[in-house]
Amino acid sequence: MTKRIFRSICLVALIVFMASAILFLYALYGYFSGTQRSQLRAQTELAARAAANEGLAFFDGMEAEEYRITWIDADGTVLYDSRSDSGEMENHLEREEIQQALSEGFGESTRYSTTLMEQSVSIYCARRLPDGTVLRLSVARYTMPGILLRMVQPLCIIFAIAVVLSFALAFRLSGQIVRPLNELDLDAPAESEGYEEIAPLLRRISLQQRRIRTQEEELRQKREEFDVVAAGMPEGIVLLNKKKIILSINPAAARLFEADASCVGKYILSLNRDLELQGLLQKAGDGKCAEMTLGLANGRYQLNASPVFSQGMVSGIVLLLLDVTEREKAEQLRREFTANVSHELKTPLHTILGSSELLVNGMVAQKDIPEFSRRIYVETQRMIRLVEDILRLSRLDEGAYDGKREEVDLYALARETVGSLLPKAEDAGVEMTLTGETAMVYGIRQPLQGILYNLCDNAIQYNRRGGSVTVRVEDGAEGVCLSVADTGIGIPAEHQGRIFERFYRVDKSHSREMGGTGLGLAIVKHAARLHNAVIELQSAVGSGTAIAVRFPKDQAGLTGQET
Ligand code: ADP
Repeated sequence: MTKRIFRSICLVALIVFMASAILFLYALYGYFSGTQRSQLRAQTELAARAAANEGLAFFDGMEAEEYRITWIDADGTVLYDSRSDSGEMENHLEREEIQQALSEGFGESTRYSTTLMEQSVSIYCARRLPDGTVLRLSVARYTMPGILLRMVQPLCIIFAIAVVLSFALAFRLSGQIVRPLNELDLDAPAESEGYEEIAPLLRRISLQQRRIRTQEEELRQKREEFDVVAAGMPEGIVLLNKKKIILSINPAAARLFEADASCVGKYILSLNRDLELQGLLQKAGDGKCAEMTLGLANGRYQLNASPVFSQGMVSGIVLLLLDVTEREKAEQLRREFTANVSHELKTPLHTILGSSELLVNGMVAQKDIPEFSRRIYVETQRMIRLVEDILRLSRLDEGAYDGKREEVDLYALARETVGSLLPKAEDAGVEMTLTGETAMVYGIRQPLQGILYNLCDNAIQYNRRGGSVTVRVEDGAEGVCLSVADTGIGIPAEHQGRIFERFYRVDKSHSREMGGTGLGLAIVKHAARLHNAVIELQSAVGSGTAIAVRFPKDQAGLTGQET
């Protein structure tokens, strides 16, 4: 700024100085020329009078350095010249000033003179003397370069003074101009006292600052909203820049990568070096959406990587982590279930097909026909039971019972079930007893019936002749408890954890013999879960099994509220 001002001032000063110098010189030249000419005229008059009076004696010992004096005869012959030898000089009759003096008494001219081996412009003044001769005075005229040469020194002094003054002025001026600008409070430009000229600029800055503050506030709010939403998300979310540096990570994702908030600013692959993850991020970095499944923190997670575009270029990546552990487990179970169902159906179907084929082809002896028919009947019954159990389970799986709750007297339901199973118990030589009291459960009748039926049925099936089954329904402070105890074969400890799985049997052939489907306890488990009930199993091989289903208080509630 100072330099600019200095340069501008110097330039102006230089232009002014040059213009002044030229004008000054021009004026001086005019003045000096006029003065020189009038002096020459006066001198010529004086010299003419003196020469007229004194004659040739006037020129004796004359010392006129500035003026050149020439005396010319009426025929043009040079009689005397103060600077040259008159004898060698040419005739001057044709000279303009001489002609004029001879005819008018006084003559004057200006022209180049080459007489003295030098070229200069000279002024000539000639006066005719009374004797007819002419006296001429001449002087070299002042020239512009001559005057300039004489003025060099003062001009240089003036120039130097101008430069110094320019510098001082520029320094002072720039200081004065810049100081108010430096003192501007840009945080509050509208309140700053600057120049009137920069008021629009300050107003604009103030407006822009207000806009920036509003935008900052909006951004902060959006960021906070995002943080709150991301923090509350069960899914993991990670925002990366294009160099795959973590910009933001929500608590769920940090937990999965076993990291904390300090991982922000780090390279994502410093948290997990999985090669497949590298490939996934590379793809997203190339502008393509990609997904993969990765095992993280004892679970399976689906990772979705999506590129974020800005002005047509990838500026970042959003990585979303979805828990698919349950989904994968469910898929696995479904696959196993389908295989098991096919397997379970295949055995009775083969038996039915084989027996019926033999019967159709008349290849069975008359006496064996009842046995073959019985086999077909038994296997068909087993298939029907299997299909019914599968349907019950799928209804439980699908949540088909949602919203169909009512107050059910579990004791009355147990009485019905025990009653329906008494013939089977009698056939098996098992004694069945029911104890307890009315116990209301706020639940769904059909699954509750399923629990009772399957537990009692198993207790008879896996019992021994002469054994007993005790069904107890109690309404206690903790809730309603249903227990079915038998004096049967018991379940080995290593199988106890798995008997509630679908199609799991301790002894497959024994179960099939008994007409079991392997789904009874799976139905019990699902039905109990539907009522938030807890199942407890106690069993000892050879002495019997007791299974208790505990319905929590709110489930047993008489409030009529659905939970
Ligand atoms: P099943 O249709 O084979 O009875 P369940 O799911 O009802 O299928 O039972 C699974 C397995 O658990 C049975 O095959 C059996 O081995 C065992 N089990 C169930 N209840 C009892 C019990 N009361 N006593 C002994 N073993 C039992």
